[in-house]
Amino acid sequence: MLHFSTIKDLKVNLNSFRRNKKRIGFVPTMGALHAGHLSLIKKAKKESDIVVCSIFVNPTQFNEKDDFKNYPRTLDSDMQMLESENCDVLFCPDENEIYNYRKTDTSIYNFGYLETCMEGLYRPGHFKGVAYIVHLLFNIVEPYNAYFGEKDFQQLVIIKNLVKQFNLPIKIIPCSTVRESDGLAMSSRNIRLNSDERKAASLISKTLIEAKKKVNKLDVGNVKKFVIDRFKDHSLIKVQYFDIVNSESLQSVTSWNNDIKIIGCIALFAGKVRLIDNIFF
Ligand code: AMP
Repeated sequence: MLHFSTIKDLKVNLNSFRRNKKRIGFVPTMGALHAGHLSLIKKAKKESDIVVCSIFVNPTQFNEKDDFKNYPRTLDSDMQMLESENCDVLFCPDENEIYNYRKTDTSIYNFGYLETCMEGLYRPGHFKGVAYIVHLLFNIVEPYNAYFGEKDFQQLVIIKNLVKQFNLPIKIIPCSTVRESDGLAMSSRNIRLNSDERKAASLISKTLIEAKKKVNKLDVGNVKKFVIDRFKDHSLIKVQYFDIVNSESLQSVTSWNNDIKIIGCIALFAGKVRLIDNIFF
């Protein structure tokens, strides 16, 4: 695996791949890699000639300094995992490298309701920060395809919108959520759960699956209530939001409709660790 920390070196190498008509698949990450990330790398490997993975813990998308400071950083094991998947190129810039390349006022990114609902309500400015870094990485890597997990569903919708707004010639490929054996969506944050919180967190996907079974038996409002009530008196889990929305517009739906794809999205704290998950209904 080639490993670059400067934009200049990365670009020189990627340009030579491109000159040889190689198609570049790109997987942007913040590191602390797990099988969820590797599923994106695997998919990219199948569909591209060269796979580039970036690891950059993006300060502009964190709302709390402590969350940024405590975000797990595990470069050695990340590199081993990427090698084992035959990832071709790893790009690990530091903050200076990124900010000296282009310091953009993130207010140029505007996604309207898509960035103010759900995650946006609790993490103001988060998606502008994501868009800034992903746009910058897209400009540097110039991939043919870029791979994003459905686990961060609102982010996926925002990135698709970014590509459309800026007319970028990049295909965004959604990838299904990879889960632990008890259903918990894999996340770099899971390692911060203690054993009681970890046990409690398995309730999240179980509850979403039960909620899905209630579609068409209960109305939308009562399915929402079912999920919220399940955690109401839980000592370790505090739900921030659960919403049932149109998977394109992210507008809340009020009735079931087979003509649109509907998704239920949840965010909660298990102890001090913030987790998100979702399910297609
Ligand atoms: P992150 O490092 O958290 O920024 O994630 C990098 C990419 O991996 C994003 O596109 C995420 O949506 C994706 N991802 C994270 N966790 C999972 C998972 N459990 N299954 C599938 N994709 C994931």
